[in-house]
Amino acid sequence: MYAKVIVDVAAGGVDRPFDYRLKDAHLGVAAPGMRVLVPFGKRKLTGIIVELSDTASVKNVKSISELLDVTPVLSPELLDLGSWLAKETTCFQITALFAMIPAAMRAKAQKFLVLNEKANHVDVSVQALFGQRIKIPFKEIPEDKTILKAVSRGIQENVLSVYYELKDGAKHKEQKAVTTLQSAQQPKTTKQQETLATIERVADSGAVPVATLINDHGLSRSTIQTLIKNEFLEEHQIVIERNPYERQAGDGREAKRTLTHDQHVAYESIRDAVEERSSKPMLLHGITGSGKTEVYLQAIEQVLKEGREAIVLVPEISLTPQMVERFKRRFGDHVAVMHSALSSGERYDEWMKIHRNEVQVVVGARSAVFAPFNNIGLIIIDEEHESSYKQEDYPRYHAREVAIYRSQTHECPVVLGSATPSMESFARAKKDVYTLLSLPERVNKKPLPAIELIDMRDELRGGNRSVFSSQLLDKVKDRLAKEEQIVLFLNRRGFSTFVMCRSCGYVGDCPHCEISLTYHQRGNQLKCHYCGHEETMYEECPACESEHIRFFGTGTQKVEEELQKLLPEARIIRMDNDTTRKKGSHEALLKRFGNHEADILLGTQMIAKGLDFPKITLAGVLTADTLLNLPDFRAPERTFQLLTQLGGRAGRDKREGEVVIQTYTPEHYAIQHAKSHDFEGFFAYEMQQRRQAGYPPYYFICLITFSHEELLTAMKAAERATRFLKERLSDQSVILGPTPSPISRINDRYRTQCMIKYKREPNFSEILSELFTHYQQEVHKDSRFMAIDRHPNIFM
Ligand code: ADP
Ligand code: ZN
Ligand code: ZN
Repeated sequence: MYAKVIVDVAAGGVDRPFDYRLKDAHLGVAAPGMRVLVPFGKRKLTGIIVELSDTASVKNVKSISELLDVTPVLSPELLDLGSWLAKETTCFQITALFAMIPAAMRAKAQKFLVLNEKANHVDVSVQALFGQRIKIPFKEIPEDKTILKAVSRGIQENVLSVYYELKDGAKHKEQKAVTTLQSAQQPKTTKQQETLATIERVADSGAVPVATLINDHGLSRSTIQTLIKNEFLEEHQIVIERNPYERQAGDGREAKRTLTHDQHVAYESIRDAVEERSSKPMLLHGITGSGKTEVYLQAIEQVLKEGREAIVLVPEISLTPQMVERFKRRFGDHVAVMHSALSSGERYDEWMKIHRNEVQVVVGARSAVFAPFNNIGLIIIDEEHESSYKQEDYPRYHAREVAIYRSQTHECPVVLGSATPSMESFARAKKDVYTLLSLPERVNKKPLPAIELIDMRDELRGGNRSVFSSQLLDKVKDRLAKEEQIVLFLNRRGFSTFVMCRSCGYVGDCPHCEISLTYHQRGNQLKCHYCGHEETMYEECPACESEHIRFFGTGTQKVEEELQKLLPEARIIRMDNDTTRKKGSHEALLKRFGNHEADILLGTQMIAKGLDFPKITLAGVLTADTLLNLPDFRAPERTFQLLTQLGGRAGRDKREGEVVIQTYTPEHYAIQHAKSHDFEGFFAYEMQQRRQAGYPPYYFICLITFSHEELLTAMKAAERATRFLKERLSDQSVILGPTPSPISRINDRYRTQCMIKYKREPNFSEILSELFTHYQQEVHKDSRFMAIDRHPNIFM
């Protein structure tokens, strides 16, 4: 028997399956989807079995050295998805496969086999391995077929689990627990007898944590100790799962709401699609506050009733405690949550719950699209227009495309939800490639908040140099007087502060990147946001030694100070990368705001979404232009989306909401359409622009970027790639370049690029993969050398 194994190329292999022989001990145990250690040249590499076969394609076949798993970590469906992903995104197959496995399993983690709580059905051979222990290093499992099989069965039956202990300290927690022992005698005192009786009842033939006995059953620790000492009880260490949402564990008891007419229509279409096993994607276009989430929740309930599973993707920043709580309240323990704020150990635990079929719903960011479910009935992508659904490193996939591919295998619909769908998705819905569902009204029938534009040019003419117009300030004061709440939005990028000499015009640039440094008040430092370079703020100009060197622009911190000066009585919470770096601080800040411990929430992008606080009656945008002026064809779309989302934060409850947008270009169509809440109008106008300029959705775009320490190497590579593509692509496709990238140097590496615009290139994947193979050696050595980005989001 042979196995075809994809080995870890990054460590020096080649991107194709290799044949390996199965040792006797591995026969009947080894299966596709398991990780293995195999000899490769003089070294041993990790790999993944993708297939078993009776024959080998070459003569001299080595044996697999070691099985790293005893049950597959990737199902046949995910193995297939991996090879599709590698082809679609042009990356190594192993990279695609590893992307679907939690990082904890990829890192150099120590692996343990754990005997689960209440496990008394484990095979004797396995029991013998454990002896008195509850946890043994994986390495202690002998290469013995019978034992391996028994272990594999134990894992499938959930009597055994595999745990990974990481160097990052994300160890699983251990707890003291007790089991009852058979004894001919009775404990001496009545109290001891009663205690033992309670434990016998609670323990139910398994181990109970001592903490549970004390906290939930009111037993005394000293009595338990005595019972242990007198051998009525036996003490154990048991492993409990890290549960990041312990504090808000739901009971699945939240009542569902009666759907409005529009919600009901949308719900029925989704339900029918689920029942008919249709995999035609659906676009749910519903304005903010129209009750999309409630539709998702009820559709998922239906899916669960049919014994199927659901994946819900939300952008990282909307994975607020509020959103998670809503799902926990509705589905209780049936939900796993996955996002990047979890430690890798916690992510692994959540993944494991899915893998072991302990949960039926996963709510998570981008990578949750790979959730190892076997019977998916529905995939939901909320805020589908968000750019965070695209991964900006190998494999450069878009969660939407992965979801659609999986949905075809599982025969289930994908529902894309948004108040401001991407141009691409809405265009597809218009052409009936996607089914269009609409929720045109807010649930509470309230109109969308009125949006007022304030022309900042007038303010400047009137002598106001502050970032706050007098109108905005008046409205803020008004809300403060009424004890209502306010959110103020500041675009991070546009507001970062740079340093300039007023005498000679010198600008503080990063010595390693073609980008200016940003001033940070904390520590009086200048930092590069691309490479992390830091230096102390200059006392005099490095070029002309003048003392008139200042920072310009406005950071969130500076705005906060200015606001506090203008409104000394206001309680302000600032939310940006600086104040939310610590784990849990994001939640804590929101909680304080929710409790009305502050009046104003001032922040960057991260406050634009998901907030649902009834007392917010005013939302303000400090300058709408900073996003608009980015050199990116999607800048108007992003501006429209952001303004609309932010408008959705105000007046969600009984009180009227109002939105104020400060701008230097009030006449811009993105701002005008946002003001009139006119998505269709914006879409029509923007589509014209896209058609004229030859951008998506009229054309596909692929961006190929090279980066290298030597300018010449980067230039030559881009030239060669351009020539290579010109020879192979059709005449209708346009190749722009080779040229230096907009940011021509990052981290002392020169960057060059070429861009392809095309309508139809049936062999495009093959051509790109040929190009990739050509540079395979370079990419092995340095994965940053070449980036092939199909459907790019970033053009810098
Ligand atoms: P969206 O996701 O479209 O922004 P939500 O699902 O968050 O909208 O709904 C907005 C608010 O309306 C929430 O507070 C939600 O609890 C409430 N809601 C949604 N559907 C209903 C309904 N059918 N009846 C009453 N309240 C509802
Ligand atoms: Zn100077
Ligand atoms: Zn730099």
